[in-house]
Amino acid sequence: MRLDSLENLRPMPTTVLVVEDEEDVRTLICKKIADAGMLPLQAATGSEGLSLARHHSPNLVLLDWMLPGQSGIDVCKTLKRDSATSHLPVILLTAKSEEADRVTGLEAGADDYLVKPFSVRELILRIQSELRKSQRTAPLDGPDLRVGTLELFRNQHLLRSGSRSITLDPPEVLILALLMSNPGQLLKADILAEKLRSAQEPGSRITTDIRHRMEALREKVALLEDRLVCDPRAGYGISC
Ligand code: CA
Repeated sequence: MRLDSLENLRPMPTTVLVVEDEEDVRTLICKKIADAGMLPLQAATGSEGLSLARHHSPNLVLLDWMLPGQSGIDVCKTLKRDSATSHLPVILLTAKSEEADRVTGLEAGADDYLVKPFSVRELILRIQSELRKSQRTAPLDGPDLRVGTLELFRNQHLLRSGSRSITLDPPEVLILALLMSNPGQLLKADILAEKLRSAQEPGSRITTDIRHRMEALREKVALLEDRLVCDPRAGYGISC
């Protein structure tokens, strides 16, 4: 991607991850989410959903209860246990309407619960309501780190410049925190790889292929400002 082609891009839209095995239902929900001005991400299984949640940091997860293999309840528990995804609001979708089932869903950590069949209008309203709640519980009091007009909000996984912002995955937050703590300095790839490895949670598989990761991050940060320096030999840094 060339920087001059990025200048007119708008900030990243609100992203909603839809985990639903029934293709017709998933396609319909995603279309309505897109019609409401949000960006849908699709997963047909729990494991695919978990992987997308970890790597794309969506703003919200719509999670079907009855999935093949890993159930929506298990996926919800995993999301809420993992520090990389525990902040994500989860709305459970299910055909179960018994009170006991509702309690099971909420005990698994779901933030809301919608019984099928539901109206698309209600679904969009519930999504918007959960998004407002999650913004209220994670106020942007002030950035943790600032270099020029770039501001990093670590807990919210957010990088902002003026009125524009992008969401980050947890390794990206860690890398940017390191670079923004040392503005103007280049850090070698092996130092970044070591920091990522030492911050890795047991069982998680963060890639430590720094060269590819940093190129991807440079393109992402360039949506805000072309400030991330990537030189595989000299090192990586944020220019002052
Ligand atoms: Ca299903």
